[in-house]
Amino acid sequence: MAGRVRRCAYIFCTEPLPVTSRSDKRFCSPACKQADRRWRRHQAEAVAIGLWYRLGIETEHVVRCPACGKRFALGHGHRRDAVYCGPACRQAAYRERKRVREAITTPSNVTAPGTRSTRLTSEKTLELVGAARTAA
Ligand SMILES: [Zn+2]
Ligand SMILES: [Zn+2]
Repeated sequence: MAGRVRRCAYIFCTEPLPVTSRSDKRFCSPACKQADRRWRRHQAEAVAIGLWYRLGIETEHVVRCPACGKRFALGHGHRRDAVYCGPACRQAAYRERKRVREAITTPSNVTAPGTRSTRLTSEKTLELVGAARTAA
């Protein structure tokens, strides 16, 4: 066999290209072609954000994860409005919130609806008082 085996140009794919493929074919599949484009865009963005951060521009793109304190750049594999550095921290924060919420609501489960209706009642009372004052 002449020449070395050509492989898919996508960095995470090691599939050899079929020997019958055209010489300008670089990816084993359309999925790899798309993944490669995404990967390159991601890399470019990561480099740009890193550069901006070092230059002191666009520092708002770098935030500190409230769960673990790690600094991370928004847009670098994260949503622009991401709060946590990753799914693990988001999960941890969600669990923590849930735990706190349950701790707050569980003992007052019985009184909670009553509190609401009391407030509604007092609002209603104020309204009636106001109406009475207007009428008087
Ligand atoms: Zn591939
Ligand atoms: Zn984190």
